[in-house]
Amino acid sequence: MNGLRFATVLKRWYTNNFRDLPWRRTRDPYAIWVSEIMLQQTRVETVIPYYERFLARFPDVAALARASEADVLSAWSGLGYYSRARNLQRAACQIAKAGSFPRDFESILALPGIGAYTAAAVASIAFGEPRAAVDGNVLRVLSRIGNDSSDIGSQASKAAFQSQADALLDRKDPATFNQAMMELGATVCLPRAPRCLLCPVSAFCEARKEGTENQLPIKLRRAAMDEVEMTVAIVENAGRILMWKRESRGMMAGFWELPEAGLLPTLKRLRAAGAFMHTIMNRRYRVQVIAGRLAKAPARFQWIAMEALPTMPVSTIARKALAKCTS
Ligand code: SF4
Repeated sequence: MNGLRFATVLKRWYTNNFRDLPWRRTRDPYAIWVSEIMLQQTRVETVIPYYERFLARFPDVAALARASEADVLSAWSGLGYYSRARNLQRAACQIAKAGSFPRDFESILALPGIGAYTAAAVASIAFGEPRAAVDGNVLRVLSRIGNDSSDIGSQASKAAFQSQADALLDRKDPATFNQAMMELGATVCLPRAPRCLLCPVSAFCEARKEGTENQLPIKLRRAAMDEVEMTVAIVENAGRILMWKRESRGMMAGFWELPEAGLLPTLKRLRAAGAFMHTIMNRRYRVQVIAGRLAKAPARFQWIAMEALPTMPVSTIARKALAKCTS
């Protein structure tokens, strides 16, 4: 394939068609880094308001490094995967201590919570370093362009796709090239129904020629989901909600949760408030929500004023359950 021609066509398409997203209006490495971390496992539409609020609250590395963990988690509350927020703040503390944002791939990669994709994205977009950023969208595009049926989940295939992306990369303008590849995967080379008729690089696409675009990429099945049933109780008393706080270590450390109904033996059930599904890693929760009343709360629980909840780190399951009661 003519890599130069591919990059030229792709970049021209991107320049005329890119979505005007807030993090694309800046070259500030901090802002780009925050956006990339938020976008991991989270949709663009969901991220935009979180990104804008987060940057308004913590406008630079120093502000994030100074903030309390509770403040950071509260700003992240609802985005899930909270280790991302904790690592973001740990990295901000390291950067603040060092005095400036690291400017190359290897030093960015050394920060907590940053993998090869994020380091390449920040290094190329903020500093123009010629590194191909390969995320899930780009893996899909590459597997189709090359009509490559290797498992995109395997480490060996990922390394091969990375080499392929590095070979295609426009080394003079890696920022535009990387963003164009991501945009192509996010808006045209879609997982289920690729929009090949609108694709700027269809002439380079081997899968399109062979008619295999809908069978690619290949991703072999990993471990099955664990299904978990739970019932949470919303117990209200004079504008306060019964909650408990997780330990300061371990999963979701420091977050506030609603009590599970089974832990409140004297709970008087008033009504069913609804149900929802929530997935964390490879665990799928089916959550029933009930409203109840309680004369006396067991010792580990606390009464929390409802107006304080928006500024507290509250788990996504608890937020979704509370929304059932207020909707
Ligand atoms: S032609 Fe179709 S399958 Fe190939 S890169 Fe474009 S959208 Fe993806």
